[in-house]
Amino acid sequence: MPYVKETLDSLAKTSPAQPEFYQAVEEVLASLRPLFKSTDKYMKHNIIQRIVEPERQIIFRVPWLDDKGNVQVNTGYRIQFNSAIGPYKGGLRFHPSVNLGILKFLGFEQIFKNSLSGLPIGGGKGGSNFDPKGKSENEIMRFCQAFMAELYRHIDDHTDVPAGDIGVGGREIGYMFGYYKKLTGLYEGVLTGKGLLWGGSLARTQATGYGSVYFAENMLKARGDSLEGKVCTVSGSGNVAIYTVEKLQQLGAKPVTVSDSSGFIHDPKGIDLALLKQIKEVERARLTRYAEVHKDAVYTPVEKYPPNRNPVWSVPCQAAFPSATQNELNVEDARELLKNGCICVSEGANMPSTPDAVEAFIAAGIAYGPGKAANAGGVSTSQLEMAQNASMQSWSFEEVDSKLKKIMAGIFNSCHNTAEEFKQPGNYVLGANIAGFRKVADAMIEQGVV
Ligand code: NDP
Repeated sequence: MPYVKETLDSLAKTSPAQPEFYQAVEEVLASLRPLFKSTDKYMKHNIIQRIVEPERQIIFRVPWLDDKGNVQVNTGYRIQFNSAIGPYKGGLRFHPSVNLGILKFLGFEQIFKNSLSGLPIGGGKGGSNFDPKGKSENEIMRFCQAFMAELYRHIDDHTDVPAGDIGVGGREIGYMFGYYKKLTGLYEGVLTGKGLLWGGSLARTQATGYGSVYFAENMLKARGDSLEGKVCTVSGSGNVAIYTVEKLQQLGAKPVTVSDSSGFIHDPKGIDLALLKQIKEVERARLTRYAEVHKDAVYTPVEKYPPNRNPVWSVPCQAAFPSATQNELNVEDARELLKNGCICVSEGANMPSTPDAVEAFIAAGIAYGPGKAANAGGVSTSQLEMAQNASMQSWSFEEVDSKLKKIMAGIFNSCHNTAEEFKQPGNYVLGANIAGFRKVADAMIEQGVV
């Protein structure tokens, strides 16, 4: 596959030190091989070189005042990656690990995810290296306002519509929306994940977690199985993890773990969802609180994790839902999951499994749903929020949830059928990458060299 190496060599020169971005590019390009064998039109139009280069990368200073009156400075970013099939759409991440390479990996994945959703949305991503942990409510508000003071010039409801991601939930979207409105005078659907009182969509909060469980259910159904009665492991304890746990419980499965960046909980009786929501959505506290209430649940702090391992994946389960962050499940973790009888992995997070872990899942022939397919429920419901804003309507929870279910079934069918078309049945990595790429690449060809 010389085109993969050539592309990576070229990116190493033009975009140095962006390992997560190279990882995402390599995974997508490697699985496009059968497509490139079937036609030379993508090579002729130099689509590879065009698609790995963002249309626009905006990097800006975000100065703000902390509670002591000191000036703090962070870096803000918005990567407008690809608009071939619709306005840029993708979340904002506030986390100290954020840098250009991480946002380019997320933006690149977003192109194919949004394409797979079947909806008219292009790919983008943004955020800042701001760390919301330990900040007061006023500091969070001042930071969000300072971030929007620059971002507002680059977005609107037909150009680029950001949403939440790690560290950006309803509260942060609220502060950013308020400031956008003040600066522009426009009350428009420029952000998604908005509050229900001011343009948000019912079921958006739940959508990514629910969608990842719907994707797993579709994969298992194709094998004559279901999630009912299955013991499941979940990582993370944020937006995606909480609503993954909720939907698993509704479908009769038993999620037994959740984690945060300090450690993880194993509750063999099944996660107490009401307590988890209280700790994470109301108190914004750490998971140690969970073990204080449930004495029979085991809390393991990160300091006790074995080197280079995530012990969430050593808890025996039949289905696993990585829902925290990138590269949180390596090949050793994958082998442990397989050894313990795991038959299904559905990725709520973006690129949580390392490339060799993905290979192990595919080689074992289990039901493996890559993030760009399995977690596409969030962005899809964001698009439903845009549709409601544009038509000045609001749909019921059931209506949005039933559309989400249909969209996830459509994404699954697209991955499944494309994998069969290219003679690798059950390989949803290949199915997702080819189906997502083909639509965007064909649109780029039809729109000419722009
Ligand atoms: P949240 O900020 O709500 O939660 C993130 C969770 O993951 C927290 O429990 C956090 O712990 C944990 N976490 C984050 N970084 C690390 C790390 N480096 N090591 C260990 N734990 C970590 O984010 P979301 O739930 O929204 O996002 C989770 C994943 O899902 C991300 O990969 C995101 O890109 C992806 N995603 C989210 C969508 C959405 O709609 N929200 C849509 C599609 C994908 P702590 O609080 O201690 O930091």
